[in-house]
Amino acid sequence: MTPLADVLMRRIAATGPITIADYMAECLLHPEYGYYSTRDPIGAAGDFTTAPEISQMFGELLGLALAQSWLDQGSPARFILAELGPGRGTLMNDILRATRSVPSFQAAAQIHLVEASPPLRERQRRLLSDYSPTWHESASTLPDAPLFLVANEFFDALPIRQFRRDPKGWCEHQIGVKDGTLIRGLSNPAPLANLSDRLADTAPGDIVENCPSATPIVCEIATRIARNGGSALIIDYGDWHSLGDTLQAVRNHQSEDPLANPGQADLTAHVDFEALAIAAKSNGVEVTPMVPQGVVLERLGITPRAKKLGKLLSNDALQSHVAAHRRLTHPNEMGTLFKVIALYNRGSPPPPGLAP
Ligand code: SAH
Repeated sequence: MTPLADVLMRRIAATGPITIADYMAECLLHPEYGYYSTRDPIGAAGDFTTAPEISQMFGELLGLALAQSWLDQGSPARFILAELGPGRGTLMNDILRATRSVPSFQAAAQIHLVEASPPLRERQRRLLSDYSPTWHESASTLPDAPLFLVANEFFDALPIRQFRRDPKGWCEHQIGVKDGTLIRGLSNPAPLANLSDRLADTAPGDIVENCPSATPIVCEIATRIARNGGSALIIDYGDWHSLGDTLQAVRNHQSEDPLANPGQADLTAHVDFEALAIAAKSNGVEVTPMVPQGVVLERLGITPRAKKLGKLLSNDALQSHVAAHRRLTHPNEMGTLFKVIALYNRGSPPPPGLAP
């Protein structure tokens, strides 16, 4: 049993079953035993790998897309270049290297990072020390200025609630305790106003998820972009509309039961992009169509970039470069599962690669 399992079982014994969102929040960010609070989980030696860790091309292309969006919006002389959940800082580092050639971009940029994990903040601090970033606990304290933002695999780490449709309403998936182990259970059915829009496209037995903390974050970002200009690129796995149980646990690059090792496995859920788009639009910004990651990277020129970099490589390095290009873009790898949307200022062109 993990130390966090013990904490959770005592809490449940005292106050009753908890929601999946409470469980995820404790597992990921419990100050003493939470997954992100206690480790750097990313990379071959960790539990999972992300696109920026697979190839520098990912950050270079997204960085140049953001810089083009900045140029398209009149090159504001001072702006916030922000990232949500920057992991090891690799994506921001690649963005900053690739955009060095864009005149005035870096002189105008102030780097702001929203990061909850102390060990990952430390890695970011080491990698990005030349750029003097400012860290934030949440997007709500980002300065009020034009905002150009990126978030890769951030929203999938936010806690979700899960509901099963029942003839009498919705039953919430909960976590309780039986015989000294954590178990799944269901609340009694009740009608829920915030799921009434899902009555038309679901039937009894279907599971839907929602992510209560994603909406306020998107509202913050959209409000700033609507007020001061800017754009935001959101990349994650998921789809336009949530349906089914997508909660998953990954430890040491293997999937496992999300209840097996609380605090020691990464927990994620697919991102419901429609919910992000609705929250953004209702706060005054435009939202691009959702485009598969492989398509966006091709439109941004990953193939010519890969060929150019490949000319500098040989043997094993060349082989792993070719494999990385495939992994980021191929439909059987990350190319289709991962999606991209952008939020952008009304009246401006959408960031490149995402035009309707
Ligand atoms: N974007 C990085 C890392 C993805 S992992 C990459 O692509 O490699 C998820 C990241 O989000 C981690 O940096 C994690 O610490 C951070 N994170 C998770 N939940 C968070 C929260 N509620 N607030 C701020 N950061 C969070």
